[in-house]
Amino acid sequence: MKQPALKPNERELIKLIRFFSKRAARLMEEGELSAEHTQMTAACENLETQLITHAANRTAIMDKRERLLNIIEDNAQCPKCNKADMLKRTGSTTNEHGWKCNTYKCRRCNTAFTWNRPNNPWDMVEFLEMYIGQLQLAMAAEQNQDVINHTEDAVAQMKDSLSRLRPVLQTSDEEVDALQQKEKEMDKLIHQFKTYLQIEKIKLNAYPEEEDAEEEDNQ
Ligand SMILES: [Zn+2]
Repeated sequence: MKQPALKPNERELIKLIRFFSKRAARLMEEGELSAEHTQMTAACENLETQLITHAANRTAIMDKRERLLNIIEDNAQCPKCNKADMLKRTGSTTNEHGWKCNTYKCRRCNTAFTWNRPNNPWDMVEFLEMYIGQLQLAMAAEQNQDVINHTEDAVAQMKDSLSRLRPVLQTSDEEVDALQQKEKEMDKLIHQFKTYLQIEKIKLNAYPEEEDAEEEDNQ
């Protein structure tokens, strides 16, 4: 499994947690581990596990999101020479429908253009819905039965793609929403616990070891 990437506040807290677990191990060796220290060590271990699980979950959700964002492959062609072999992707832009589309340059005829389809599945859903609507309008006026059959097949295929795509995107949106909510809760928890450990660390530097257990938070 990929090592989860930690945010700076998570890294900082883990450093503090490690400091206190080392100290707890030393106290245990010396037979001086008090109930208070044991409790603190357990709280540290518990939070570290929660933190790593959360980070792994975040990495998995964002990796999946990234793969989804890049799932669309443009079969772009130069509008001037109708070829694709000398195309270079130059970036992306937002078109008049608000969809993100890739921009290209054809090095054969030195033409810069924006591809007419979205570069991501979220905008692709809107594109397909609009395209299906246009085809259905055109079909209503169409007389040629072959054209009608062909168009109906194409529409059925697009509707099938849409019905498979929509739930995948919805799941991803829900996962990202839930992750952001969890992120807020974790940030708060990390902040509180870090403040607590920092105060404990200051106390350690200020007072002799054996008096630690007597120290109360006077703030
Ligand atoms: Zn060209």
